[in-house]
Amino acid sequence: MTGKKAHKIAAELEKLFPVAKTELNFQNIFQLLVAVVLSAQSTDRQVNKVTEKLFLFVKEPRDLLDMGEEELSRQIRSLGLYRNKARNLIKIAEILDREYHGQVPDSFAELLKLPGVGPKTAEVIVGVGFNKPSFPVDTHVFRVARRLGLSKARTPEGVSFDLKKIFPPNSWIDLHHRLIFFGRRICKAQKPSCNICPFPEFCQKEESDV
Ligand code: SF4
Repeated sequence: MTGKKAHKIAAELEKLFPVAKTELNFQNIFQLLVAVVLSAQSTDRQVNKVTEKLFLFVKEPRDLLDMGEEELSRQIRSLGLYRNKARNLIKIAEILDREYHGQVPDSFAELLKLPGVGPKTAEVIVGVGFNKPSFPVDTHVFRVARRLGLSKARTPEGVSFDLKKIFPPNSWIDLHHRLIFFGRRICKAQKPSCNICPFPEFCQKEESDV
């Protein structure tokens, strides 16, 4: 990996997607945490549809506890794994209310202790919510980073580790968003639009998609 290649990838992605931000809607960090937990195996659009109504009532952990697991399940039932998600969100709300004065912690290690919160979710909360350096790796970032030869790691954590070594910390979260956009719109899992890809010389799709 050369600095020139990393620079070209970052610069081209910025040209393609100048606005780098999450497509999930939220008004505070607790709502961001709820939205990210809901987004597992669901699209941002599906989540936004659900949270448009849910967030009228849910602004802090206490609101979720007042709502209760049954009503929460009912409100999010259009999403995959909704029973699991409702159970985890109620447990999260209980822990935040009891141990963190209703606030979402800003530390990766503390976030990982919450039920249903894995490394990707924790990195999103730290990076998007608290604006601290983090490089979350979802399915798009994982696929694209490997296709572009930025990492050969076989786990999201390994890819995140490699990307953090290549790019400067102040670019991580924007690059995360741009790699997602690139993966959703151009370097799609099935039938990528290679005819409009600015990186044909870097492509390692054949080796990385095995
Ligand atoms: S050439 Fe196609 S598969 Fe390769 S990185 Fe570009 S869009 Fe993805």
